[in-house]
Amino acid sequence: MGQLPQSVLDFIEKNSQHHFDITCELAQIPAPSNHEEKRAEWVKNYLESFGAQGVHIDKALNVVWPIGVTEDNPVVVMMAHTDVVFPDTTPLPLEIRDGKIFCPGIGDDTTNLTTMLVIGKYIQEQGLKPAGDYGVLIVANSGEEGLGNLKGTKEICETYAGRIVEFTTFDGTFSFLCDNAVGSHRYEVTLKTEGGHSYGAFGNRNAIAFLASMISTLYTVKVPPYGKTTYNVGGISGGTSVNTIAQSATMLYEYRSDDQRSLAEMEVMFKNVIEAYRAMGVEVEVNVLGIRPCRGDVDMDKLGTMVKRAQTMLKTHTGLDVPTGSGSTDANIPLSLGIPAICFGLLDGAGAHTREEWVSIESLKQGLPLCAEYMLHYFK
Ligand SMILES: [Zn+2]
Repeated sequence: MGQLPQSVLDFIEKNSQHHFDITCELAQIPAPSNHEEKRAEWVKNYLESFGAQGVHIDKALNVVWPIGVTEDNPVVVMMAHTDVVFPDTTPLPLEIRDGKIFCPGIGDDTTNLTTMLVIGKYIQEQGLKPAGDYGVLIVANSGEEGLGNLKGTKEICETYAGRIVEFTTFDGTFSFLCDNAVGSHRYEVTLKTEGGHSYGAFGNRNAIAFLASMISTLYTVKVPPYGKTTYNVGGISGGTSVNTIAQSATMLYEYRSDDQRSLAEMEVMFKNVIEAYRAMGVEVEVNVLGIRPCRGDVDMDKLGTMVKRAQTMLKTHTGLDVPTGSGSTDANIPLSLGIPAICFGLLDGAGAHTREEWVSIESLKQGLPLCAEYMLHYFK
């Protein structure tokens, strides 16, 4: 990993302000998961503004730019996501102070995306071609956040099934590199009982009481010993009024693990609890909100090579020794399919998933050459 070529350094210097400007522009465009249309349109127009060919928006709202991709050649995928966790449909508030850009979604994942796009501009301007017998897909993907349920990545992995040889997603900050998948199962569980008047029908069963009991039961579970496994009840609702025996109560429940065996054991346990309450005559509806798989049968040598390469570049450009670990990212889907995949960030910042989120403006100047070196590995 030597010094970047002079043409890249010149390009970066010339485009540093441009990078900052488009980051601020894109950051303000609202893009709640499943409604990424405006950002997708912006990205497509941006890519076409410097002459990118074949750019299209697929049915999952991914913006896809294929470079040297034929009918059936292998493909390398690099992506960053357009969606944000914020439901806003009007422009997101942006503020610049203290050397930082403040905006909901600025780090997760706007800046990573604009950094990748600016290096795409270099690739186009130089007329670079993929370095091996593969094509490259540069993707601004949809649906990474919770409600998106990895929709965009799933679509890419389906469309290019059996062809993806390496997969990288730029997400998060410089501080962490994800090479393992935390799988999760997420549910909405609704309990129904006969209910009735709190005085007149006293003795009838109360859905809230049964839900409380079910939650207590779920919290007695000792997690399986493989990997790191967690569970959480993240919301409850139900009932009608103070003098009504509740007929219905609902909770949001999830469990996660970075080991498939634990996930499987947690599923058995969860289903047994559900059946136990059904056996008591309580109606239980289970609605699956999302299933994210763990890492499958990945070639660990190939994955290790990708990790090492990214860590070396991170060290060069940021000085950090970046640790690896598991996460819940777009890399989950390729990892579950046995494709070597990693996720790391091109910025320094904090406050992801809060309205106080920020990125350091100085870090944009580290992220751009880092991204250049990483992406240009795949080009000649
Ligand atoms: Zn993200």
